[in-house]
Amino acid sequence: MANSGQKVVLITGCSSGIGLRIAVTLAKDEKKRYHVIATMRDLKKKEKLVEAAGDTFGKSLTLHPLDVCSDDSVSQCINSVKDRHIDILINNAGVGILGPVESISIDQMKKVFETNFFGVVRMIKEVMPDMKARRSGHIIVMSSVMGLQGVVFNDVYTASKFAMEGFCECMAVQLMKFSVRLSMIEPGPVHTEFETKMMADVAKMEFPGVDADTVRYFKDVYLPSSIDIFEAMGQTPEDIAKCTKKVIESSSPRFRNLTNSLYTPIVALKYADETGGLSVNTFYNLLFNLGPLMHITMSILKCLTCSCLRRRTVSPN
Ligand code: NAD
Repeated sequence: MANSGQKVVLITGCSSGIGLRIAVTLAKDEKKRYHVIATMRDLKKKEKLVEAAGDTFGKSLTLHPLDVCSDDSVSQCINSVKDRHIDILINNAGVGILGPVESISIDQMKKVFETNFFGVVRMIKEVMPDMKARRSGHIIVMSSVMGLQGVVFNDVYTASKFAMEGFCECMAVQLMKFSVRLSMIEPGPVHTEFETKMMADVAKMEFPGVDADTVRYFKDVYLPSSIDIFEAMGQTPEDIAKCTKKVIESSSPRFRNLTNSLYTPIVALKYADETGGLSVNTFYNLLFNLGPLMHITMSILKCLTCSCLRRRTVSPN
């Protein structure tokens, strides 16, 4: 249970990756300002979290089951919290999907939206009324650079994050009237199981109904450049946890928070030209005309950002 003065933070999807790291970072806060309710679908997957939490487990960090795709699971979890009092809700749970749209069934697409969009909406609907009544609270949503800028062959994942960005843009205005804050965290690539799971899925893909050219563009053009980008620009879950903690602790938290400043120019392209031509043509040229140049650029970037030279780019600040 939270001590008086401690903020109650509930985080979704804590069995791995970014969610696990945010949970542990907040639980280990030197000033002991947080009581973390780390949640996950399947408590059998708690080992990594328990190990990383160390002696904070059972003290400043407690564990609850929660599946963001289930109304019952969400309401049971929130009802189990003392007075349903949550100061900070961190919507982190998410799933990825990659590949030519022709090879992805509508059911698979719906599952992605069920987690990445409706999962967040379900959590916000459950927690928001109490926050509004108390006139305080902070809702954090783990979006992505792909919530701001579409990336080829990530059509469905991008759409799910855009949907959430749109939802939150609307909510932020209403919530401000109730002194409840809402912030988006927008990471670029991050080295987690997300990347590993997606690559494992891709390795098994058979591409039914996809023409040979598209399969070739996906496998031989997109995937190698995506791997280059991950290697050169990828952040760690620790980077994202630090950024999230700064957002939580800011006296005037920003609505949008790109965690990797290397992505600022890419996102700026779409706002620099309202016709959309600049960003569509730039992405086309980068992928299909400047592939070798991009590979060299990414290799140089990888050297420049390698741990021996790097001071990681963690924004804001
Ligand atoms: P991850 O796969 O390690 O973590 C995702 C977590 O969500 C897992 O613990 C998973 O079990 C959980 N989850 C999935 N469905 C759930 C459900 N129905 N209910 C509860 N939990 C569920 O990957 P990650 O990289 O740590 O991803 C965390 C968030 O960060 C996601 O929202 C993802 O979209 C976002 N993100 C990731 C990257 C990246 O490159 N890794 C980049 C930008 C944004």
